[in-house]
Formats: sequence, structure tokens, C-alpha cells
Amino acid sequence: MDLNGRQLSEGEVARLMLSESSLAHVQRVPAIIGRGQKLQCQRCGSQVLEALPNGQHYCASCVNLGRITDQDSLYRWPAQPMTQNGTLTWTGHLTPEQAQVSQALIESAMQRHDHLLWAVTGAGKTEMLFPVIAHALAANQRVVIASPRIDVILELAPRLQAAFAHLPIAVYYGDSGEQPESQLVLATTHQLLRFYQAFDLTIVDEVDAFPFAANPMLAFAVKQASKGAVIYLTATPSQELIKRVQTKTLAVSYLPRRFHGAPLPVPKIAFGRHFQRVPAKVRRVLLETVASGRQVLVFVPQVDWLPVIERLVAKLGLSVASVHAQDPERATKVQNFRHHVWQCLVTTTILERGVTIYRCGVIVLQADSALFSAAALIQMAGRAGRSADSPDDPVWFFASHYTRSLATATSQIALMNRRGQHALSTV
Ligand SMILES: [Zn+2]
Repeated sequence: MDLNGRQLSEGEVARLMLSESSLAHVQRVPAIIGRGQKLQCQRCGSQVLEALPNGQHYCASCVNLGRITDQDSLYRWPAQPMTQNGTLTWTGHLTPEQAQVSQALIESAMQRHDHLLWAVTGAGKTEMLFPVIAHALAANQRVVIASPRIDVILELAPRLQAAFAHLPIAVYYGDSGEQPESQLVLATTHQLLRFYQAFDLTIVDEVDAFPFAANPMLAFAVKQASKGAVIYLTATPSQELIKRVQTKTLAVSYLPRRFHGAPLPVPKIAFGRHFQRVPAKVRRVLLETVASGRQVLVFVPQVDWLPVIERLVAKLGLSVASVHAQDPERATKVQNFRHHVWQCLVTTTILERGVTIYRCGVIVLQADSALFSAAALIQMAGRAGRSADSPDDPVWFFASHYTRSLATATSQIALMNRRGQHALSTV
């Protein structure tokens, strides 16, 4: 098991049955510090408010990693340099723009300077990371790629493993269990709470995704787990990140073009009502998209829409399935859709990011729902047009009303396309 740079609770350490002598060099800190009303959890940074019947306080915010109380300690293993075979086995090529961004990332990492990679959906972010990861691994450093979204981690894992074929990559998420010690770690941001000052390079993918944006605990986790530069990747940076760019505490690379150079598909907005009954206009778009040889992702705002829409789509004679966050077959279904088992997949926002389907149209039903932020709409639209042979997959937002999120999403996509055009003319 990996103890390098780890932070474990008293309970976890007890289960390992380690000898006192092997704990000699391990730092031991109180799990909860402070007095009276101002108690703070040392693992997740949250304020501690809850008490047990015996008067002990415990942290409810990170309780799903195992309960820690004000009587407990946290054990912090010092991070050791690592040498494994982190040779880059990827043989693809970066475009000149991607290569430029990649070089900028290496420079920031070497200077331990945080960096924002602001790239449109489908810009080839993962490939741009390979050189900076390889550079850190060659310097005996340890690298983590974290995302708030488990789907993103599961999608990245095989791609990273293929790119660094000689390195057994550790992948941490809710049910993953303990992993072997590896120089390259993939983890949900939540799992970073189990590391302390462990990583020389931390890459946070889809940093704007729920629940990172609204969750200070996960930002705390990134800070605690890192001892070097942090690279943030996003297509839709938060105001907070933009502010850090403006105050120069964050370097920035901007990539307004997809790797294939074509602009982002611009969503068409159609107004109507009763989308839970799939009106004629939606039916027509669905059938036309499938007839053009494409698959379709249909996004709905709520889980209880899924069976309804699935049934109505099936009635049109299309093969269809649906998927949501708690679906135990979620990973298999996405895989099946990728292998063309179905023409249409009805989904909640869980597939808004991290998923690449080639030749795929996007339909968002009730796109004016308060549950869809502008960032979510941009991400959903970003599932379309990912491949060079079909950059103009159709994207349709169906709505009853025009909302601020719809306006922001469409104007941001148009803005990115204009900047992309500009970048193209200056190359
Ligand atoms: Zn906590």
C-alpha cells in the first residue's frame, strides 16, 4: 500500500496494524483544532459544529472518509522522491498552438507557479498535459490529476495509462480502495484529502464543475495535497480564477480553437412548451440528426424525465437508453453508446463533460431550467463537433423562456469562435 505523502486517520492507521517504530517518522497532528465555537477540521478545513452524545466534536463534512473527532490524530507520512519508469509512450503530435501551451505549462511547473489553461471543449487538453507530466516524472517528481467529477477520472485513466504505458497509474475514487504507490495518481478531488504535501505537480481538470466551484473543502484539498505548482484546466473559468489571472497570481494560456481548427458548433435555440412530451420540432431534429448518420445525446434537467423521454424516443423507432448519476450501469452504458449500441442516449448533466463521442448531436430539453448554469450549457454543447470529420454536429437548446444562462452560454461560444478565428488568422 502507498504511504508516501499520505494523510490517514487514527482509524485507518489502526487497521494497518503498524508497529510503533514504523510510525516514528510520521507526523501526528490533532484532527480538530481550535476552541469553543471555532473548531476546524485539519483534514478538510471545514468548521466543526457537530457533537456526539459524549460531548466529543466530529467533522460532518468529511465523515464519508471515516469519522474523526477532537480526540483523534491525523498521521502524515512525509513525501519521498520517487523514481519509476515514467517515459512518455504516446506517439501523437501536438499542433503548433498546443505545443506552445504545453511549453508554457512546463515553464510554470518548473517555477512552481500556478497556471490556468483556458481551452475550449475539444481543444485536446489531455494531450497538451503529456509533456509537462513527463517532464515532472523524469525529475523524480510526483504528479496528481484531480477532478471533481468521477466520470472525468474514469475517462482519463485509460488514456493516461496508454500514454505512460510503463508506469502503473494509481486511480483513487470513492470505491477504488487502496492503490499501489505510483508516481502518477488520478483522483477525485475528494480523495486528495487523504494526501498531505504529496505532489510536486497538481493538475485540476474541469475545475469549474460541480461540486468544486461551490465547495471550499475541495479547494482546501488541492492546497493541502500540493507542494508545487497547480495547473487548472477549464473551458469556463470562474470569476475567482479570472481575478487571480488579473492580479497575476495565476499564469494563463488561452486556447480558443479545437484541435481540428473548426469553430465550436453554435447552439440553435427553439422556443416551445411541454418538452416532457417531445413536441414535433424536437422529434424532427432527433430524426434528422440520426438520419445524418450521427448519434444524439439528449440532456434533461431532472432524473424523473428520463423514463418518459426514453419511452417517447423509442416510439419514434430509435434505439435508446438513459443514464443518471446513481445508475449502477452508468459506465457500461456510456461505453455501449460509444460503441453505437444505441442511436440516442438520454441523460442528466452527468455526461456534460469528460465524455467524447464522435459524430454526435446534442439536444438540451428545457434548456431554460434553473438547474442548467451557463457553464453547464457550454459543456453540453461542447459534446458536439469533437471529430475533424464532423465538426458541425447540430446543437439544439429547447426552452420555454430566454434566460440569462442561455444568453451567456451562446454569447460565450460566439466569443470563443471569434477569438479562435483571430488566432487562426495570426498563425
Ligand atoms: Zn473534515
